[in-house]
Amino acid sequence: MAARKINFNPGPAALPLPVLEKLAASTIETGGAGMSIYEMSHRSKDFEKILVDAKQRMRELFGIPDDYHILFLGGGASLQFCMAPMNFLQGGSADYVRTGEWAKKAAEEAKRFGTVRFAGDTKADNFNHLPDKLDFDPSAKYVHFTTNNTIFGTQYRDFPSTGAVPLFADMSSDMMSHRWDVKKFSFIYGGAQKNMGVAGLTFVILKNALLERAATDVPTMLSYQTHVEKDSLFNTPPVGPIYITKLLLDWMAEIGGLEVIEQRNRKKAELLYGAIDQHADYYQGTVVNKEHRSWMNVCFRLPSPELEDKFIKEGTAQGLHGMKGHRSVGGVRISMYNAISPEEIQKLVDYMVKFRQTN
Ligand SMILES: *Cc1c(COP(=O)(O)O)cnc(C)c1O
Repeated sequence: MAARKINFNPGPAALPLPVLEKLAASTIETGGAGMSIYEMSHRSKDFEKILVDAKQRMRELFGIPDDYHILFLGGGASLQFCMAPMNFLQGGSADYVRTGEWAKKAAEEAKRFGTVRFAGDTKADNFNHLPDKLDFDPSAKYVHFTTNNTIFGTQYRDFPSTGAVPLFADMSSDMMSHRWDVKKFSFIYGGAQKNMGVAGLTFVILKNALLERAATDVPTMLSYQTHVEKDSLFNTPPVGPIYITKLLLDWMAEIGGLEVIEQRNRKKAELLYGAIDQHADYYQGTVVNKEHRSWMNVCFRLPSPELEDKFIKEGTAQGLHGMKGHRSVGGVRISMYNAISPEEIQKLVDYMVKFRQTN
């Protein structure tokens, strides 16, 4: 087998090796079922246990109160961009905070179901910081945030109060990366392939009180009510990805839970931003306000596009994979979700220091 690269892909992204090893060991026969996860009925006792355990683990680790439902669906975060307004906007007005490409896409979909107002918008600055101030409409049906802007490398780690207006959040790229007070939110969603598992699984965390307001004239498959009533088993859910998420959550619990994950992520951010700031003559972070810097996606430029190409090319040859920035930002983007260790970031930093000396 080829050596594993250090994988900075933005998504799908790196998984912890112990998770992959467990998956490999249980691929032919899963959990005493006498068959693999991919072959068992989604209505079987064996699968039910996996589903219940995964949700329970997620509830414990993330601190999800009992009056919230957890749903495991398909369709990606992108389906939630339209499914959420389809259920909860109902011709009313919603506030969106436009902080990046994904926030923009979410807002575009919502326009099909009502009025979209921007409570904050940094498009004019190519999303290189979070909005300085937010202006909420107290009569909005909800406020929508993207907690981590995967492409531009900004992140909210705390929120201003939205009063009585329900708070919705796309947490695709920073779910389970640090402690949140879940009670502040009415609706949390994301694709699993960045921090929570593999492509094919979408998680939704939904407050009971919000569900009571859901539209009733929504197609069955697109109604949250359906999936809550059937406990994510209305149709065949993504059984394989749910199992992998369960393994990932078990791994998080084994290494010490969310507090340890948060410490690791803080440490990684200190190492990498520390190196950028120490060599600010050479590496320029693209996020202008340091307090808005993401712990998950770190974007920076080198003195010239030629040096950036060389940096990526030589790094790739040394096993540092997936460093190319998104075309709308350019430069380098290091995506360092939960699976990436501080030791791996230290290797990157060593490479950066050496590259600067020799180039
Ligand atoms: C990747 C990403 C998405 C898109 O997720 P899909 O599962 O591909 O639909 C949406 N929002 C954010 C913040 C993302 O990082």
